[in-house]
Amino acid sequence: MSRASSLYRLQQLDFELMNSHERIKEIQQILEDDKAIVRLREILETSEIQLKDTRTIHSAARHDVDSQRAKIEQTEKTLYGGLVRNPKELQERQQEAESLKRYLVALEDRLLEAMIHLDEMQEQRDTADEALTRALEIQVHQHRDLKQELEDLLAKIERLDAEREAALASVVQEDQELYEDIRKRLGGRAIVLVQEGSCSACGMVVAHSVQQSIRSGSDLIRCGQCGRILYAG
Ligand SMILES: [Zn+2]
Repeated sequence: MSRASSLYRLQQLDFELMNSHERIKEIQQILEDDKAIVRLREILETSEIQLKDTRTIHSAARHDVDSQRAKIEQTEKTLYGGLVRNPKELQERQQEAESLKRYLVALEDRLLEAMIHLDEMQEQRDTADEALTRALEIQVHQHRDLKQELEDLLAKIERLDAEREAALASVVQEDQELYEDIRKRLGGRAIVLVQEGSCSACGMVVAHSVQQSIRSGSDLIRCGQCGRILYAG
């Protein structure tokens, strides 16, 4: 292995390690992020409170209708029971019954509205409940997959660390220092391929004679423009 190819191998391992660590961070963030579930729980709680309130309104409307009907029944009983004989009083009772019936219509309308609203609130609550249940189911599957991926990544990192250790054995100290220095300054890629006679990082043309030196592999040769180490592949 030439000095450049040893470094190139080291760089490949470093990239794989970097990507694996980044993915682990991403996975941990997804595993910790429960904003969507919290939001769905809030929606369900709100819709349950609304449903409870609507039930109370519905019960009151039902009660009003029932007691109005009882009042009408009572009035009619008195009216047709033969107990009231005075025509004036009879007329008054008749008017009273009619007035009670008119109000009953209004109360029945209100009850109907309350029933419709109750149905809507029930449906809203059921929809919120289903959405939360579904999201939790999806989360269980997603988390199971992510935890598996996490385990795989940790095993991969262990393997890559061992490979890196082995790769470092064939890199001289001086080359490793240069490699780390360029990586720090130029963001990751310290050693790049020469492709179609040019540096694949910055595009600078590499002279034929230089390309031959790169291929011979005895020295590290750097791009005249970007300063990265060049590798023939
Ligand atoms: Zn370059």
